[in-house]
Amino acid sequence: MSEQVKEVVVIGAGKPYRSRLWVCGESLDRVGVVGLSTAIRIQEHGGHHVTVIAESIPGDPKSIRYTSPWAGAHHVSVAFGDPRLNQLDKETFDIMWEMSKPGSETEGLFLRIDQKDYYEVQPDQDIPIEWMPNYQLVRTDLVEGTVLATSFTTVSIDTPAYLPYLLARFLAKGGSVIRSSLQHISQVLEGALTPFKPDALVVCAGIGARFLGGVEDKDVYPIRGQVVLIRAPWVKFGRTINGKDEVTYIIPRRSGDVILGGTRGVDDWYPKPRPETTVAILKRVIALAPELAPPGTKNPTYEDLIPLVIDNGCGLRPGRKGGIRLEREIASGIPVVHNYGHGGYGYQSSWGSASAVFKLLNEAW
Ligand SMILES: Cc1cc2nc3c(=O)[nH]c(=O)nc-3n(C[C@H](O)[C@H](O)[C@H](O)COP(=O)(O)OP(=O)(O)OC[C@H]3O[C@@H](n4cnc5c(N)ncnc54)[C@H](O)[C@@H]3O)c2cc1C
Repeated sequence: MSEQVKEVVVIGAGKPYRSRLWVCGESLDRVGVVGLSTAIRIQEHGGHHVTVIAESIPGDPKSIRYTSPWAGAHHVSVAFGDPRLNQLDKETFDIMWEMSKPGSETEGLFLRIDQKDYYEVQPDQDIPIEWMPNYQLVRTDLVEGTVLATSFTTVSIDTPAYLPYLLARFLAKGGSVIRSSLQHISQVLEGALTPFKPDALVVCAGIGARFLGGVEDKDVYPIRGQVVLIRAPWVKFGRTINGKDEVTYIIPRRSGDVILGGTRGVDDWYPKPRPETTVAILKRVIALAPELAPPGTKNPTYEDLIPLVIDNGCGLRPGRKGGIRLEREIASGIPVVHNYGHGGYGYQSSWGSASAVFKLLNEAW
């Protein structure tokens, strides 16, 4: 019971007692968004000392081994008919909306954007974003081949700025980071990497949860996403086509960079961008939004985007049959809480799932 722990903490130490927790699955400036948000939530709301275990350190190149640096990212819930995910997404949106408030210290990490999402097929379930600011269902002026659209205001997250911000916030509040690539969670549970045994372990290993000993969740699978990054500071809108077979999207970041996508390769582990896919993405996005080309370009084609390209690459969304694993178990006598399998929605569900972990921990103590 969290109340009891809080009492023990205060009395037992003469000052707030700090439990030691391990959040496994971080890699600093290329950190996993889920693990770091979870670490911050436990730290800031629980007053605990949290140590993050990291496979990579700042300056390491982006890698196919962890997903967060590859994301767009925008907040557009995909919780069709899933009340739990809807709740996680909504909680996260409320926090991000507040963080992106004009004049706030964190405003610069986000861009508030007008978003339009087109659908080639009428969704079976209610579109789960009626609660977004300025939400409207649109049935006129549709893109060819689509049957309806939604328009609303949301945030895009400037991920190259947001992840270091989370890390800085975590460290500033006394969080610790140790670099290590774990083979088995018992290496943490038995205190092999630290001078103490932790009081709890939180697993936020993303796609790594499929391989990490003691977890080895075979329901976790990759949904490969290939993207192109361009420099186009004149683009301030978000636009998506949810197609029958593929998704096409444009996500502008605060920095003036714009992420263009995309692909959804289920069980596709290919670690490098496929050149023909890069061209296909550029062709699809220019058809959806000719405004991507530099202002004044006449009859823009995908070739007008090529000089704007900064980077292209791909990441493995940590898909999971059954959705996010938010569960507690006991191993080696301590609570182990799982928070992985966020698929293509790890940013937009991050703070909500962090709260859920915090609740599971409090219930265990
Ligand atoms: C192209 C693309 C676009 C996306 N767009 C969006 C979007 O617009 N909005 C959105 O919300 N989401 C988006 N996503 C999804 C989002 O990026 C993921 O859901 C999210 O990054 C998952 O975060 P995570 O922290 O769970 O995993 P990761 O970022 O993969 O982090 C897992 C961490 O665990 C560590 N780890 C794993 N195994 C071990 C081990 N054995 N020992 C030590 N450390 C280990 C890794 O090093 C890593 O640091 C997108 C993804 C892609 C690929």
